[in-house]
Amino acid sequence: MKTIASLNLVKSLENSAPETPNSQPIYALISVHGDPTAEIGKEGAGGQNVYVRELGLALAKRGCRVDMFTRREYPHQEEIVELAPGCRTIRLTAGPVEFIPRNNLFEYLAEFVEAWLNFQQRTQTNYALIHTNYWLSGWVGLELKSQLGLPQVHTYHSIGAVKYRNVENPPQIAEIRHCVEKAILEQADCVISTSPQEVEDLRQLISQHGRIKVIPCGINTEHFGSINKKDARQQLGIAPDSKIILYVGRFDRRKGVETLVQACASLPPGFQLYLVGGNREGGTDFQEQQRIQTLVKELGLEAVTIFTGRISQPLLPAYYAAGDVCIVPSYYEPFGLVAIEAMASKTPVIASDVGGLQHTVVHGETGLLVPPGDAHALTSAIVSLLENPIFRQKYGDAAQNWVQSRFSTQGVAAQVQELYQSLTVDTFVQEIIQTKNLTPELEKQIQNLLKSTT
Ligand code: UDP
Repeated sequence: MKTIASLNLVKSLENSAPETPNSQPIYALISVHGDPTAEIGKEGAGGQNVYVRELGLALAKRGCRVDMFTRREYPHQEEIVELAPGCRTIRLTAGPVEFIPRNNLFEYLAEFVEAWLNFQQRTQTNYALIHTNYWLSGWVGLELKSQLGLPQVHTYHSIGAVKYRNVENPPQIAEIRHCVEKAILEQADCVISTSPQEVEDLRQLISQHGRIKVIPCGINTEHFGSINKKDARQQLGIAPDSKIILYVGRFDRRKGVETLVQACASLPPGFQLYLVGGNREGGTDFQEQQRIQTLVKELGLEAVTIFTGRISQPLLPAYYAAGDVCIVPSYYEPFGLVAIEAMASKTPVIASDVGGLQHTVVHGETGLLVPPGDAHALTSAIVSLLENPIFRQKYGDAAQNWVQSRFSTQGVAAQVQELYQSLTVDTFVQEIIQTKNLTPELEKQIQNLLKSTT
């Protein structure tokens, strides 16, 4: 609860705050391996890239200044890209300028820190706070925090201990990742968890210490939902009476596309399966895509399966709207943007009952939840929706309302901004206390007022 006295105090303290050129705080979003301006859907580029970009843009729309730092992957990439007034992507050079899979990036992080500090000094920018994404950036954030005393907010996007829980031979980096993920939770000023399930995982598998706040991922609800089913099908050349089962996402084993294909093999004929996503030749996603293509052939589904390849964000709303049902068959999913993008487009979702999906898909209201890896359960769920247009309509309408009320980027960005403000005021007041030689009594009073504002 904020009191008037505490707000006045904070205001008067803010008046003596160091000024940035137009006195707006500048926030640094750090996403070492997830370039917010990358083409989404290709290798390694997925929900994290979208999260950072959408958050940066939404914060800028709210009047903040945001710099989004990432690693340069190709020589022709510009160092600075202005996405919107107040919102830039800044690419730093750390290690060879080429795509490096995230499991091999750790050794280049010290270089990234160095490049970040050089940029900050060269441009004389006073960042008010850093918000790091994924454990690699979290390590960078801890370094910057210890060197500059900046408040750090962190979003995990995925937790190693959950991802590797049932994996027989986890990669070598898994141990280091676990230590870094623990340090982040215990030392960052606040961790943003995107679902209550993630909070449980962090507390059980990582540490009992550290502050966590639940703020979900958001999507642009004006973009997804901008086209109706009839127009979408016309645009994509899909017949109005076709039964369309949709998958959108990367080709990665943990996404469970295999279970979806197996489930479709037991469906009565008369449907089409659209697999949206994909990658250039040679990448790890491409291998998985080829494995799925072989399975599709083996199960006799070739004639009804369409591999669209990667679809750009501007074209995606039409695919979501054209689907009768969108399947998210992941074995593990920290949040799962695809589920809310589909629901925002009025398309009911059948998702695995795991991770963030348990909290975004409301079973029996906006779609159905099924056990992960259970092709039989998935077949039954698909049949129940494909054969029941009234349910599909009811679920689709409810899904769109649900996403608009809970997961719009603007609503989510407002919550994130409030968190940033509370942490920067906190840090600033602590600095004042240290530098202004206050009497112990006044200091205590300020500390108490501060508690009531945050
Ligand atoms: N996506 C896309 N084009 C494609 C396939 C996927 O733009 O062809 C986007 C999709 O819209 C979503 C993101 O990739 O925003 C996937 O995010 P999600 O959280 O579902 O999964 P992740 O890739 O982070 O595991």
